[in-house]
Amino acid sequence: MAKTTRKKVKTVGNGQEHHPLIILGSGPAGMSAALYAARAELHPLLLTGMELHGQAAVTNQIENYPGFPDGINGPQLGALFLKQAEKFGTKTLFETADGVDLHTRPFIVNTYGKVYSTDALIVATGAAPNHLNVPGEIELTGRGVSYCATCDGWFFKDRRVVMVGGGDSALEEALFVTRYATSVTIIHRRSEFRAGILLQERARQNPRIEYLLNHIIVQIIGDDAVKAVKVKDVRTGLEKDFPTDGVFIFVGHTPNSGLFKGQLELDERGYIKTNMKMETNIPGVFAAGEVADPNYRQVVTSAGMGAAAAIQATRFLQKD
Ligand code: NAP
Repeated sequence: MAKTTRKKVKTVGNGQEHHPLIILGSGPAGMSAALYAARAELHPLLLTGMELHGQAAVTNQIENYPGFPDGINGPQLGALFLKQAEKFGTKTLFETADGVDLHTRPFIVNTYGKVYSTDALIVATGAAPNHLNVPGEIELTGRGVSYCATCDGWFFKDRRVVMVGGGDSALEEALFVTRYATSVTIIHRRSEFRAGILLQERARQNPRIEYLLNHIIVQIIGDDAVKAVKVKDVRTGLEKDFPTDGVFIFVGHTPNSGLFKGQLELDERGYIKTNMKMETNIPGVFAAGEVADPNYRQVVTSAGMGAAAAIQATRFLQKD
């Protein structure tokens, strides 16, 4: 019998709870790691973090996850991931890690008011949307500035909005918002798009989508609500006010790795460095999904990384 099957959850001194494996994050990577670890009888504890199901939860329609030929919306897919992981014995807590000590064995994970120890850790904390860092952005967030069209698109029924960015997110979310908004103007700093050809084609065919290319936003203007954006033509330097009711910002992401700085090796952009086995520089600590993936950032690749991390964690604990 594998040694891991004998490892159980137990309460140790000071009310500290010990688990064979803790998984941080509830996006596709964390959930699929939990599924695999639970089926290996590791009794994983999954701490969801602040955003249940991660970024997938704010994706309206996922059309490229195998097995769903008609697409599935993000929250529905997340709920299925959770159901499947819990079915095999994952314990899920709606808690967020706010400190880790990976220099001791077992590793220590702190959440608000609680301390856990664990023999192995899978970090699947994902990534967060980048800000434009222009005047007005912070003040008007929630009053017309948004980073999630799926969450906030409805508020812009019969209104005009702008989307910033030229990647898949900007175009995909622009298409979604055309359900509500009368016009959606994509403001992009170049004239070529990073987004896939299929999305570019769909956006081009949508009569509600317009473009303001070779422009950047230098200020978001408004008081109680967004009224306009000040845009600058990057070729001429000329600035003008562009009236709008909403600003959706999709200019990339930053990995949620701050908690691990000084303990796990990060690359220059903050992504956790792993090898092909999802191993970090600390034996017993694995990373999966967008916190460790600057390249693919897909639900399917994150889920695959999570599965690989759990398989490696199982092997690690069997040897431990
Ligand atoms: P992304 O591909 O990194 O695109 C970010 C966009 O924002 C780029 O067009 C970039 O311009 C622009 N940008 C960055 N900083 C800016 C700034 N300060 N001011 C103005 N514009 C700025 O990010 P993403 O669209 O979120 O996609 C991330 C990953 O997720 C990609 O791998 C993508 O394929 C994937 N994804 C896939 C799907 C799907 O498969 N359906 C959906 C969403 C996301 P430049 O182009 O000039 O650099």
